[in-house]
Amino acid sequence: MSETIGTTCVQGGWRPGDGDPRQVPIYQNTTWKYGTSEAMGRLFDLEDSGYFYTRLANPTCDAVAAKIAELEGGTAAMLTSSGQAANFLAVLNLAGAGDHIVSSASIYGGTYNLLAHTLRRMGVECTFVDPDCTDEDLEAAFRPNTKLVFGEAIANPALTVLDIERFAVAAHAHGVPLIVDNTFPTPVLCRPLEWGADIVTHSTTKYMDGHGATVGGVIVDGGCFDWQAHADRFPGLTEPDESYHGVVYAERFGQGGAFITKATAQLMRDLGCCQSPQNAFLLNMGLESLHLRMARHAANGLAVAEFLRDHPRVAWVRHPSLPGDAEYGRAAKYLPDGSCGVVSFGVAGGREAAEAVMARLRLAQIATHVADARTCVLHPAASTHRQMTDEELAAAGIGPDLVRLSCGIEDAADLIADLDQALAGE
Ligand SMILES: *Cc1c(COP(=O)(O)O)cnc(C)c1O
Repeated sequence: MSETIGTTCVQGGWRPGDGDPRQVPIYQNTTWKYGTSEAMGRLFDLEDSGYFYTRLANPTCDAVAAKIAELEGGTAAMLTSSGQAANFLAVLNLAGAGDHIVSSASIYGGTYNLLAHTLRRMGVECTFVDPDCTDEDLEAAFRPNTKLVFGEAIANPALTVLDIERFAVAAHAHGVPLIVDNTFPTPVLCRPLEWGADIVTHSTTKYMDGHGATVGGVIVDGGCFDWQAHADRFPGLTEPDESYHGVVYAERFGQGGAFITKATAQLMRDLGCCQSPQNAFLLNMGLESLHLRMARHAANGLAVAEFLRDHPRVAWVRHPSLPGDAEYGRAAKYLPDGSCGVVSFGVAGGREAAEAVMARLRLAQIATHVADARTCVLHPAASTHRQMTDEELAAAGIGPDLVRLSCGIEDAADLIADLDQALAGE
């Protein structure tokens, strides 16, 4: 389909026939009925496709996943219970005990914990690289047992912009795919698959839902990575799965279907972190206005960043689309229509001054959340990232004075007036 992204936001994924509901209906059921055990057996063997249990597939979730796959330009997608689950399953689908992965160091705190600690306990080692590292340093991070490269399109909360093309080229030179968490830009503002990424993940909890209503995630496969060409490295995709009567995913489901079918048939079956149909319905409501909201979030973020840049009580401000920002060049390349509504800044006077300003804000409210229609604000070093050492914080680009402001879709003038009174007040 050659429709534009806004149209896909509204109508993608669910294309009803005559007499079907016009809106995506909520299939609020766990199970489906079949006439014979044999018919059901064929579904279990992946011989026929059809629904039988909502943990593995549900029409509401499938319609919403299909919309997101269309938005990203991918071949298949799977919804998950959260963004954490999406990144966990995306990595686990390729790497197991004894394997190694490479990740940008500038990533979300929860994902850092997952890669640095929890996956390590499961036998998967991660080497973190500075997103601005030299080509030699990036090269040196790879090992013979490396299975994938991971990064965030715009890192939460450091707001670094991943050089997707460079990381994709390095990954492919080592015969492994690049996974990009595209939560902050959303496919409205950046489509990593077009720049060489192979798999895209999201915390749909953020802009995709956009209203702070549901926690969720999604994995999208671009269908471009040739698993068979690197069969030795990815036996999970290219050798028989004994837990599924010897199915070989890459053979049976092809390059476009293997990754998501394996993630669903094996990992979702065993780990069970599925999204509920009710939450998928709410997520879809958010997706229907994603293109409108992202334009406003990005414009508000830039307007607020410009105001903060010129304010005497602000020590520094970062927004990828702010001229002069360290990330501006990469943002102009990868995010030409705007980046996101998130702005980070430091208040002159450090940690305590920052906390005082935050307490005086009225429209922007303190919340462990980001990328919501309502403006919210957070002090990462005191909350989401408090388990990290000072060195780890520095590597992730987060200072103790960093305030993360997530501009909603209110009027920019009101957000600026709120900041103005909070910065002025004693
Ligand atoms: C929030 C977030 C996550 C985790 O998502 P949850 O839905 O909270 O589990 C992962 N990656 C990024 C970039 C995020 O912002």
